[in-house]
Amino acid sequence: ALSARNIHKSYGEKEILRGISVDVRKGEHIAIIGPSGSGKSTFIRCLNALEVPDAGTIDLRGERVFDAERRTPVASVRELRKRVGMVFQSFNLFATQTALENVSLAQRRVLGRSKEEAAQRSEELLERVGLREHTHKLPRQLSGGQQQRVAIARSLALDPEVILFDEPTSAIDPEMRVEVLKVMKELAEGGMTMLMVTHEIQFAREAADRVMFIADGEVIGLDTPEAMLVDPAHERVRRFVNALS
Ligand code: ATP
Ligand code: MG
Repeated sequence: ALSARNIHKSYGEKEILRGISVDVRKGEHIAIIGPSGSGKSTFIRCLNALEVPDAGTIDLRGERVFDAERRTPVASVRELRKRVGMVFQSFNLFATQTALENVSLAQRRVLGRSKEEAAQRSEELLERVGLREHTHKLPRQLSGGQQQRVAIARSLALDPEVILFDEPTSAIDPEMRVEVLKVMKELAEGGMTMLMVTHEIQFAREAADRVMFIADGEVIGLDTPEAMLVDPAHERVRRFVNALS
């Protein structure tokens, strides 16, 4: 579904991504782990054009949607953001808009849906993430876990081909995390293609088809959860996993 080749990114003199490649198959779920500052967020931000790579290419369904060698037209960036959804650690909901409005906004702006169409789709999606009773609440009236589920519904509303998650549970109270992980697991089981940066090793074991380990802007390993998390062959990965568990 999504193929990134040789992605490089520097900030000033500092090379943050040093040639990262991945092929995500349709319906596949890849968990990305690695030390703080290793470039995990930067990498997935590149995949929906929140950052512009200095080198590399991105294909979606075999179609080239980004090539650092060419200037990418704005229309193509918009297209990429529509096809590749993103869920952030910090939810990024509009504080003055209700859950329903938050889920509706992009549908109206990006897909040109009418207010009624968007509201109907938003109701369906909010119900799917377990928030039927909360559609008319503002973000501050919702728990962190509920806000994150609104953000997931908002991302689903554009019918993306892939959803990227950047540590979706790390800003949430531990007891609220499970409901977010449950929604993510349901999405995974429903066949959504997902790339998820996470520190939840147990969740990665259960929900991921493959686990990618990034250190210093490079892929150190990419293999089954079993191979990566249970008894990792690679010394660097083993140290990391042991420190977490
Ligand atoms: P964490 O686990 O803490 O979220 P990460 O693996 O997601 O870490 P990134 O956020 O991708 O790491 O950051 C990688 C490096 O790039 C860090 O050294 C960070 O300080 C630097 N960096 C990230 N964004 C910028 C920016 N906009 N300008 C300059 N440096 C940046
Ligand atoms: Mg990060």
